[in-house]
Amino acid sequence: METVFHTEDVVKTYQTGGTEVRALDGVDLDLFAGELTVLLGPSGSGKSTLLNILGGLDHATSGKVLFRDTDLTTLSDRELTRYRRDHVGFVFQFYNLVPSLTARENVQMVTDIAPDPMSAAEALERVGLSHRIDHFPAELSGGEQQRVAIARAIAKRPEVLLCDEPTGALDSHTGVQVLEAIREINETLGTTAIVITHNAAIQAMAHRVIRFQDGNISSVETNATRIAPSEIEW
Ligand code: ADP
Repeated sequence: METVFHTEDVVKTYQTGGTEVRALDGVDLDLFAGELTVLLGPSGSGKSTLLNILGGLDHATSGKVLFRDTDLTTLSDRELTRYRRDHVGFVFQFYNLVPSLTARENVQMVTDIAPDPMSAAEALERVGLSHRIDHFPAELSGGEQQRVAIARAIAKRPEVLLCDEPTGALDSHTGVQVLEAIREINETLGTTAIVITHNAAIQAMAHRVIRFQDGNISSVETNATRIAPSEIEW
């Protein structure tokens, strides 16, 4: 299998009020092309910190973080920005859509600056929102807004899609639709996907499940059989 991310002994510490918080405590990890990985763990275990470092939003304190052959820890801020722009799509718990722009226009903000984007219409179709393309965020449900955010993240055809608690603000019904959209992108475009959650039920849709505890990996499991998001019991 092709390795997309490889980390060695990644440590991240934060200094707050004279005390040191060790958010990541020597993480060794491999993530493979085309896989949908669920990062599961309690709040505060270091999942977001790791995702932000993989996505070039944050620097590790020490250790090695390879994206293919590039060690992200050696990149300048400008190079990290370029890395994010060219390779990474982000989806966060809160959708961060521009309220005065329609779904199509929110996606176009990204396609306008990407080298080989799909059209906003195609991106929205891939998340099942063709019928909402000219709606404003306030006219959409939370789940629909999150699917617009996914369309925006994938329209530039990123190699990796990093999702931090994408269903954290949603009920089970709309959450399932968001997970279906992520699965669909992973399967049809082959985008390597990482989904952070503290909801253990979601792990059943992943190819691999990485459990986090106290700033490090506590287990890695491959799912022999996966289930569709619609079959997940929340
Ligand atoms: P998770 O995503 O699993 O909830 P985080 O990666 O957000 O965990 O946080 C891991 C640990 O690092 C927590 O103890 C958190 O309080 C701490 N932490 C995260 N970000 C910061 C920050 N900017 N400043 C200080 N501490 C932080």
